Amino acid sequence: MASDSTCFSGNADDISSLLLALATSGTGVWDRDIRSGRIVYSAAWKAILGYREDEIGDRIEESYTRVHPDDLAGVRAKIQSHFDGQTPTYEVEHRLRCKDGHYKWVLSRGKVVERDPDGTPLRMTGTTTDISDTVALSEQLRRSAELLTHLTDEVPGLVYQYCLRPDGHASFPYASAGMRAIFGTNPALAAIDAVHAESAIHPDDIEAYRNSLAQSAHTLGRWHMEFRVQLPGEGLRWHEAQARPCRLENGSTVWHGFIADITAHKELEQRLVDAAATDFLTGLPNRRAIMARMEQELARVQRDPHILSAVLMFDLDYFKNINDHYGHPTGDEVLKHFAGVLQLELRKVDSVGRIGGEEFVILLCGADLEDATRFAERVRQRLHSDPMPFGDTCLPVTVSIGVAAMLSEDHCADNALSRADAALYRAKQRGRNRVEVA
Ligand code: GH3
Ligand code: MG
Ligand code: MG
Repeated sequence: MASDSTCFSGNADDISSLLLALATSGTGVWDRDIRSGRIVYSAAWKAILGYREDEIGDRIEESYTRVHPDDLAGVRAKIQSHFDGQTPTYEVEHRLRCKDGHYKWVLSRGKVVERDPDGTPLRMTGTTTDISDTVALSEQLRRSAELLTHLTDEVPGLVYQYCLRPDGHASFPYASAGMRAIFGTNPALAAIDAVHAESAIHPDDIEAYRNSLAQSAHTLGRWHMEFRVQLPGEGLRWHEAQARPCRLENGSTVWHGFIADITAHKELEQRLVDAAATDFLTGLPNRRAIMARMEQELARVQRDPHILSAVLMFDLDYFKNINDHYGHPTGDEVLKHFAGVLQLELRKVDSVGRIGGEEFVILLCGADLEDATRFAERVRQRLHSDPMPFGDTCLPVTVSIGVAAMLSEDHCADNALSRADAALYRAKQRGRNRVEVA
């Protein structure tokens, strides 16, 4: 550092150690005589730009020629404001041209160390640090973040990070643009407080939502939840959330995951469930559905034997003849007509189902055998008084009905159905178009 020792005051050995320390951290030192326009650099300073000791001039005008043209005005302005005493130090990030012609990002810092009595700056010293690695890294980070944002914004749904602090405060530190579609709010608001998003969750689901999150935070097990969201003007939407939690040192739990809108899937699922439980011709519950309903009712009767319930089995009389005389489609119309008759007599608490070709079942809740018999007679009468219209006339059909009580000692709902079937058989034996009780 022979060339620098003339410019830097203090103990020569101490200064050499200091310069060496700076040099190893990618920092060079400069010393500028403002009046003469002379500036000298440490060897390390020159090395940053790839110059040897004797390859660089000592004129300030020359130093400005190495500053990137886009940065020059900014550098000059910063120096000037420091000269004018507006800033305590001079500090600016800018690019400098290296010996090989390419530009390097540096951080220049300096301070006027001598002024004349009028305050005119006489001498300024400073450092220049190579920050090209840092700038490249931050550029790389910026690009990675940008890529992440672009990718996640394209995902149909919400890609997010969710943070639950030990004090209970929750937020979405990261949320893709899908935040608007999923929760009807913007990512910036949700980053402050998750309440901006979670207030859209259906009141019936919010407790389960919080409990499942708390459970996931406790066990650190994967979070999976389906919940409903009510957005203004959009009706009810179903969402499915999946996320993996981890615990931070400060006790917070952070999940990374995504939320998808599964409304269409849910609607289809519901339609399939309904279809699987519905008789296609009459629209009534099918055998499986009415049997499941009867098993439920039997469980209720078994819990409390004071509860009364009756099972009624209906079978249209000589139905085969209708098919034979009028054709199968007319037979279908008769079945639909009879289904309508049954529904007209039904209360909300009762259940009906088509269990076979022209066989139907009704479950009367809270009805004893007398009530059930009266109900059966009403159906029989209504079918008589309200026959199916057929062209200019109508098509009279009759029905035989077997009635049985549901008993707490029954093993399954089929037991009551068998008794009702036996009573129905008797009704057929005894001439049809009548009601028999088991
Ligand atoms: P009974 O008075 O003894 O009950 O005589 P029935 O003719 O009503 O009884 P049977 O069991 O002999 O005939 C039932 C008929 O119901 C036979 C079958 O072709 C018809 N059937 C079954 N399912 C359907 C259907 O979905 N549509 C139509 N149109 N007919 C059906
Ligand atoms: Mg039959
Ligand atoms: Mg029949």
